[in-house]
Amino acid sequence: MRFEIVTIFPGFFASIFENGILRRALAEGLVEVGIHDLRAFTHDRHRTVDDRPFGGGEGMVLKPEPIAAALASIGVEPKFTEASQENSARPTVILLSAQGRPFTQSLAREIASLDRVVLLCGRYEGVDERINQLYCDMEFSIGDYVLSGGELAAAVVIDAAMRLLPGVLGNEASSEFESFGFPDADIATEVEGVPRSQHGAGGLLDYPHYTRPAEFAGLKVPEPLLNGDHQAIRRWRREQQLRKTQANRPDLLENAKQAGALSRKDLEFLEQIQQVHPQA
Ligand code: SAH
Repeated sequence: MRFEIVTIFPGFFASIFENGILRRALAEGLVEVGIHDLRAFTHDRHRTVDDRPFGGGEGMVLKPEPIAAALASIGVEPKFTEASQENSARPTVILLSAQGRPFTQSLAREIASLDRVVLLCGRYEGVDERINQLYCDMEFSIGDYVLSGGELAAAVVIDAAMRLLPGVLGNEASSEFESFGFPDADIATEVEGVPRSQHGAGGLLDYPHYTRPAEFAGLKVPEPLLNGDHQAIRRWRREQQLRKTQANRPDLLENAKQAGALSRKDLEFLEQIQQVHPQA
């Protein structure tokens, strides 16, 4: 899969591609990245990429012409042209924007299934809206806050999608079983064998992880993790997921309930902890 990034700060991405999993994925050719400096597509002495907003008000807006030229240089035409409609290899163009759809793990999966994705990074007050209308297939926000630019958001999208590509994570299974993983009530407690790390998210938050030493600063690793009883470990981990999701993300717990992703045992456990600490 290939990502094309359009940005006024091409240097921004160096550190994310030079470290960890992303570096390895690039080195092994599992993923390719093209970084396109928006200023290279300007024609004036000052390499101007922004201009004042029509209608007045604060700040500047990224001009449409350099973006259109940058997109053309990577073979992206406006969506509704004949050339575009006939081009089955047209990449998916994503605008990073505080006004976009919330970016989620399921969108990360969708992105990871594509061949080529273009990420447009806004700056200042944002991008001239006609670029969105003409070229963009999706508009993503990484959260309900305002960043100073789309670069961090693009890095988040790339990181989340890239680690789902086959071969990128050491253990193929590990991305299936972490927070926001596939809803499946049974997988958490009923499967055989050694409980894998990050096991059994079932649409819930992940459970807490511990490593050596068994006692640190007076705190012991929870007992069920120490005695090698796989069934007990699964049960304990599932219960921790339920607890944590109820405390931090009751919305996710509700979704899991609605989706039928909670087993009878899960529901009993929730009822039990509800009785001990009833919510006000
Ligand atoms: N005026 C805009 C904010 C512009 S911030 C508004 O109020 O919505 C400048 C750029 O940062 C945006 O064009 C976008 O590319 C990026 N950005 C800011 N917040 C973002 C978010 N939550 N998710 C994704 N991109 C964001």
